[in-house]
Amino acid sequence: ATPMALVTGTGLAAKKGLLIRNAEAIQTSKDVGVVLTDKTGTLTEGSPKVVNHDLSAELTRIVASIERNSNHPLAKAISELSQDVVEVESVEEIPGEGVRALYGGEEYFVGKPLDYSKYESLLEEGKTIVEVRRNGEVVGFLAIEDPIREDSPEAVRRLKEMGIEPVMITGDNEKTARAVARRLGIEKFHAGVKPSEKLDLVRSYQAHGKKVAMVGDGMNDAAALKGADVGIAIGSGTDLAIDSADIIITKGGISKVVDAIEISRKTFKIIK
Ligand code: ADP
Ligand code: MG
Repeated sequence: ATPMALVTGTGLAAKKGLLIRNAEAIQTSKDVGVVLTDKTGTLTEGSPKVVNHDLSAELTRIVASIERNSNHPLAKAISELSQDVVEVESVEEIPGEGVRALYGGEEYFVGKPLDYSKYESLLEEGKTIVEVRRNGEVVGFLAIEDPIREDSPEAVRRLKEMGIEPVMITGDNEKTARAVARRLGIEKFHAGVKPSEKLDLVRSYQAHGKKVAMVGDGMNDAAALKGADVGIAIGSGTDLAIDSADIIITKGGISKVVDAIEISRKTFKIIK
């Protein structure tokens, strides 16, 4: 591409709230055939709230204190449940799984349920379930709701109109994913995806001859953002995601991905 076109494209993008870290990305964007997008924090607002739980006051304090050590959007919602902080030790975050810590000589885990079937009706409402286990034994759960970003359904519709396939990928379970995808008009999704598998998915779409844009916000999205033809991070996301991306959305959500592709198509059609 001419350097001038790259400058023009980058300038147009900046006006739309897109920060271009890698100039080539604004050129590649016009050829994108698939947009792989993370769910939590990307299609949804990433400001989830706990809407239901069955924890005792004591357990709430422990769990909230554990989650203070994580940057995950779910962690923020859970840590807000109690301001009464207790000393937890040896906190370990397991991306795509949850957080483990010690308290009072016991091991706690806050994260993915062992068995989702117990939570059927909450899952069908699109809620995310986080389970609490003490020394491996289930002692409670939290149901969390993260509103869909206002611009997501319209962005999905525009992508389809442009002949681009939107695909949602999430570490969350199948039922929640299906409920959220349906509300967004997304037909294709991959649920229960482990952080390492996000990159595999990028590669498998590329292997089908598609140029892939990956959109994400979490530390678990970093490898996939790097591996994609265009990696796009939500600006409010984790540093690792931002450092791994070609384009950063400084304000808003997935509608900005559509804007980036439109700018790219326009800029590189006019200037040859
Ligand atoms: P997504 O791909 O939707 O952003 P993740 O892969 O980050 O989701 O997480 C997948 C699942 O792991 C979550 O739905 C949740 O059950 C669990 N999980 C991950 N991190 C945490 C955390 N810090 N606290 C509680 N649960 C977590
Ligand atoms: Mg996420």
